[in-house]
Amino acid sequence: MTNHQVDLTIIGSGPGGYRAAVLAALRGQKVAIVESATWGGTCLNRGCVPKKDWHETAKWIEQSRHYAQRGVVGPDLTGDMTLAWEHQHQVVNTVRSSYVDYLKRLGVQLLDGLGSFQDPRTIVVRGQDGETQQIQTSYSIIATGSTPVLPRGIQTVPGKVLTSDMLYDDAAPAGKRVILIGGGVIGTEFAYIFRQLGKEVQWLVNSPSLSHTQYSPQAKDTLKAALHTLDIQAQEHFRVSRIDQDAQGVSVFAEDGRQVQGDWVLLATGRQAFTQGLDLENTAVQLDEQGFVETDAYLETAEPGIFALGDVVGPIMNANQAMSDAQIIVHNLLSEEKTARNPAWVPELVYSAVELARIGLDEDTAEDEGFEPAVGFAAFETSPRALGQDDTAGFVRLLADMDSGELLGGEIVGRDAGELIHLLANSGNRQEALRRIAETRVNHPSRAEELVNATETLAARWGLEAQIFGAGEPEED
Ligand SMILES: Cc1cc2nc3c(=O)[nH]c(=O)nc-3n(C[C@H](O)[C@H](O)[C@H](O)COP(=O)(O)OP(=O)(O)OC[C@H]3O[C@@H](n4cnc5c(N)ncnc54)[C@H](O)[C@@H]3O)c2cc1C
Repeated sequence: MTNHQVDLTIIGSGPGGYRAAVLAALRGQKVAIVESATWGGTCLNRGCVPKKDWHETAKWIEQSRHYAQRGVVGPDLTGDMTLAWEHQHQVVNTVRSSYVDYLKRLGVQLLDGLGSFQDPRTIVVRGQDGETQQIQTSYSIIATGSTPVLPRGIQTVPGKVLTSDMLYDDAAPAGKRVILIGGGVIGTEFAYIFRQLGKEVQWLVNSPSLSHTQYSPQAKDTLKAALHTLDIQAQEHFRVSRIDQDAQGVSVFAEDGRQVQGDWVLLATGRQAFTQGLDLENTAVQLDEQGFVETDAYLETAEPGIFALGDVVGPIMNANQAMSDAQIIVHNLLSEEKTARNPAWVPELVYSAVELARIGLDEDTAEDEGFEPAVGFAAFETSPRALGQDDTAGFVRLLADMDSGELLGGEIVGRDAGELIHLLANSGNRQEALRRIAETRVNHPSRAEELVNATETLAARWGLEAQIFGAGEPEED
């Protein structure tokens, strides 16, 4: 048996585990990272990265509808999911090898195998070849992510009834008629992507799409209208009771008797924390009723020295949160001053027929916290950049406190929302944030200008000029 002695061991190499390993190694820690499956976790291999690659292809196809009116002429273009699958596969392989190279260059020890706790300071790694390694560690991070949840009584069948975890491991299933089940972020994204990749999509949801998210009704309506234009509509209140297969394909039945037929099904019906095989009973780490690892505000579990991050902690499950958690843990391990987790200020995204991005509080949570929210708004419909791109859907919507002018939150809907949101994520001291945005030296024409415009409307409409622009005195030379 090989033995290792390190400062920090991370179990799981998804975006959270990877980021923690990089940050700790950069700060001089001796780090080991353990992975039982494919390096890079869900996000790189079966989530954000391949999905975003397909989203880009879907956007290209949609934009090609504008080619003729712009003077680019030729036969119509259509999507091909098999080629799109190969493209994402190459992207993922390239990113994975660069991730692994970077970890090695930083001196991180990469251990292949299933990690489990023998005791709070000893982790055993069992490789697929039967080899066992043992790590003595001062600290550890549980970064084991999540797995899909299936509707009760439903089983997966390769090539026929899939979860998103199965979608990217093998080439895309044959058949044009796809039944997509689920109205969360992943379902809402795939409804658009599959349609643009040439599939006939029947989209079945229990609650309306994105109903469990904090996006404003205006944002959800903008997305719904864009999906509608592409003939993508969900069948609502569809509670799946059974899925049958026969020579014609797959039939999905609802509890109310509705039946839908297709060639294959994608289940986007949620995810749950993954802690199997960790032997947590050898530690004081506790799980909550839903199976998430319980931590304090600093992401430390009930076992001192063992931390947890990302999907396995929940309830927010996105790579941005996992990476933010990694920053917090490494910072707290190596600094006197501790930082608490603050999920509200980690950006959230949806990549569908329009991009939705949000950060901070929404009106309801702002009121609950005792603020008086005022809204500033700027639409992309008159933005010279958006008009030039033939893509004017969406807006910037900023929320500030009526008394202080403090930035409470923001939402960006439309092309490049996922990039623009960084202007809000990086706005630092929120009391100063709107002033900083208003004073930004912008590139013209650009979409970022609409953040400045939204700040100006906010100031003018709600009498916040003094708080945002200063006391009204002209600037001295
Ligand atoms: C289809 C899809 C699209 C998504 N798109 C986005 C997006 O666009 N943006 C975004 O922010 N988020 C997106 N997400 C969510 C994102 O992928 C997850 O939130 C993120 O991967 C969670 O990171 P993590 O580090 O917590 O764990 P994971 O990425 O799940 O990684 C956990 C790793 O731990 C390993 N592991 C588990 N147990 C053990 C063990 N005992 N020993 C060793 N290794 C172990 C697993 O094999 C896995 O590799 C998407 C998810 C899906 C499914």
